Amino acid sequence: MGELLKDKVAVVTGASRGIGEATALTLAQAGADVIVTARNGDELAALAERLARMEVAALPVAADLTREEDVDRLRDAALTRFGRVDILINNAGVGKYGPLSALSAADYDWMMNTNMRSSFLCTSAFLPGMLARRQGWVVFVSSVAGLKGLPNESVYCATKFAQMGFAQALDYETREQGVKVSVVAPGGVGTHFAFGTGRTPGDPALDAMMDAKDVAEAVLFAVTQPPKVRVFLIGMRPMSEPL
Ligand code: NAP
Repeated sequence: MGELLKDKVAVVTGASRGIGEATALTLAQAGADVIVTARNGDELAALAERLARMEVAALPVAADLTREEDVDRLRDAALTRFGRVDILINNAGVGKYGPLSALSAADYDWMMNTNMRSSFLCTSAFLPGMLARRQGWVVFVSSVAGLKGLPNESVYCATKFAQMGFAQALDYETREQGVKVSVVAPGGVGTHFAFGTGRTPGDPALDAMMDAKDVAEAVLFAVTQPPKVRVFLIGMRPMSEPL
């Protein structure tokens, strides 16, 4: 176990697989205790066992993070077990690709609620404690789709731009109270993301994308800066993609 994040407590959302799982493992490797959350309780329990073997404390909390009552339960479980949360990684997210004509209002609600509403609810749950202690880290895993509009991603882009604006506004509100806000904006990452809603398992293009671990390392970089420094934005793309 490393020392960089020793005595820090982190919440990672969307941790049942992909970037969230890799981030939980990377933060634990650096010494953080980790609360992992997503809907799939079995995958979270398996991850929590792996984390516990890394000699950090791990707490799995199954929750649908679009639901306020679930986020309240997540906050209560985290604070009961650890007393505080130092680091929040807002990573849970979904996407559906296609022209606007192929997207329904239900698709809009699904993407906006999972990507932005969950970020709002989780940040609202854990920021007050950080502000009170005058120390904390809030990281948003947004996307290149939060930096530029892309074809066939209109609603997904809207959700990721929303996270970006939310994070920028938050930075103004929290900086002077010692809370650092960071956005990590990756291009393609080879995970389960958008399987069945625009990406296909086994597609060779996935192999050329970045690995979840690459993004996790960027998250770690964001939360391990010297006291005087905050990293606001990390943009990253696989070599297979143009800007
Ligand atoms: P992934 O493998 O599909 O993982 C998504 C995670 O979000 C899962 O753990 C999923 O868990 C969780 N999740 C979905 N809906 C949820 C809900 N209602 N409540 C709680 N958790 C929920 O995708 P990923 O690539 O790791 O994506 C992670 C983040 O990176 C997303 O915000 C995505 O927009 C962003 N991103 C991905 C890429 C990429 O190319 N993969 C690129 C840029 C940005 P459950 O299903 O168990 O709930």
